[in-house]
Amino acid sequence: KPINSTQIRQCFLDYFSQHLVHHLSPSSPLIPAQDPTLLFTNAGMNPFKDIFLGLEKADFTRATSSQKCLRAGGKHNDLDNVGYTARHHTFFEMLGNFSFGDYFKKEAIRFAWDFLTSETWLNLPQERLWVTVYADDDQAYQIWQQEIGLAPERIIRIGDNKGARYASDNFWAMGDTGPCGPCSEIFYDHGEQVWGGLPGTPEEDGDRYMEIWNIVFMQYNRTSEGELQPLPKPSIDTGMGLERLCAVVQGVTDNYDTDLFVPLRQAAAALLSDTPETLLQDAKARPSLNVLADHIRAVSFLLAEGVRPSADGRGYVLRRIIRRACRHGHKLGAQGTFLHALVPALIQVMGSAYPELVTEADNIQAAIRAEEEQFAKTLSQGMRLLEEALQAPNEQTPPCLAGELIFKLYDTYGFPVDLTADMARERGWQIDEAGFEAAMEQQKARARAASHFSVDYTKLIRSDQPSEFCGYQQLQISAQITGLFQGDQ
Ligand code: ATP
Ligand code: MG
Ligand code: MG
Ligand code: MG
Repeated sequence: KPINSTQIRQCFLDYFSQHLVHHLSPSSPLIPAQDPTLLFTNAGMNPFKDIFLGLEKADFTRATSSQKCLRAGGKHNDLDNVGYTARHHTFFEMLGNFSFGDYFKKEAIRFAWDFLTSETWLNLPQERLWVTVYADDDQAYQIWQQEIGLAPERIIRIGDNKGARYASDNFWAMGDTGPCGPCSEIFYDHGEQVWGGLPGTPEEDGDRYMEIWNIVFMQYNRTSEGELQPLPKPSIDTGMGLERLCAVVQGVTDNYDTDLFVPLRQAAAALLSDTPETLLQDAKARPSLNVLADHIRAVSFLLAEGVRPSADGRGYVLRRIIRRACRHGHKLGAQGTFLHALVPALIQVMGSAYPELVTEADNIQAAIRAEEEQFAKTLSQGMRLLEEALQAPNEQTPPCLAGELIFKLYDTYGFPVDLTADMARERGWQIDEAGFEAAMEQQKARARAASHFSVDYTKLIRSDQPSEFCGYQQLQISAQITGLFQGDQ
């Protein structure tokens, strides 16, 4: 029974709010209200952080929500994955159920399994599901094996798998500080036609075994000193990506083939090509179309909450996402601005679940357009420069883009580093990030020197010196600047 994303979201919320009597919480904003440790809301549990920590009291001990999340910066950052995997987005919705000192491991695992596999709910084939538990968590292992009846070879123990790129790290934390604990995750096997080995093996960063649901046994608060303090009460936090669940339920192996993304990819293809069907079939164009479908969501939701492109902080993340989208549009042959014109298609898909998109539609489009226009001035020139560099011979293996060039693209052409890195990666090049940082530092030193310069210069002007000394002043000033440079290094 194919069901659409609206029904799947509703089905999840009904299961927990009606069937299991959880308090139904609306999604909180992407911009966390009062949490300086967090750039963007990155998980369903964020709005409940203080309840987990025992700092705030709620009049319920169970809750459920579908939470807007953004993973583009901070501890959880998936920007670089978009366009490369079938399951990562910058913006996504996390379905979750939460227990604040109410139920714990046994019930949480039972509820999740029941929702996914029972006939009354999603009725997914059990033989497609695999689970992981934290390496030392014998209790969770026992529950899966004895109570649920899962075969031992389908229960994989995984520790803090530090270092691996998409590694299943079965100790979940929202950030460097805050609530955390061991977790147990449920994976769906898309079948052998999809690449990617078992979770826990070196091939785990493929899309075949897709993590769908993370059940976190919230037990600790990590302090800024790195100490793990027990929470007042053991609690439950779960998170399941709506887009991944839709792929599973709708029987597709790629999130971008679900009803959440297909209309966006179609709209992008229609804007960029006279023969959109051909573009949609073109395997080489696929990553860029996916990037556009992903980024228009992130960008529009951020703009709807009042974030505007800027040179730092959240605004710079927004700018990076817009510019990355522009670059991919350019790659598919976009002439002039186009991204803003995807907003109506997004409203078609998401507008009824998220009315802020509808009320802010005009502002969203205008802001995207303004940023596109600004970037359009330097995009093609910067691209030419970069193309030249990527065609030139390079001594290193793999070839590596020089830090100075990355800096020039950043400083003169407005290319965020991740945009340059994305282009380099497409050609199998690496980027010299350290070299970029060094060039950036030099620029800062020059700017500092220049600001001293203007102060000193004004003083010298005011000092009523006769005009004959002009040359001398200049000499003195450059001596001062040289001094400042030396002082800085
Ligand atoms: P992955 O290992 O696939 O990157 P994760 O372990 O980082 O996922 P969690 O932090 O455990 O993800 O978040 C809980 C759930 O949210 C995941 O099981 C997945 O269904 C969903 N999810 C996480 N990141 C993304 C993303 N970038 N795009 C879409 N869904 C996501
Ligand atoms: Mg991840
Ligand atoms: Mg994972
Ligand atoms: Mg996970």
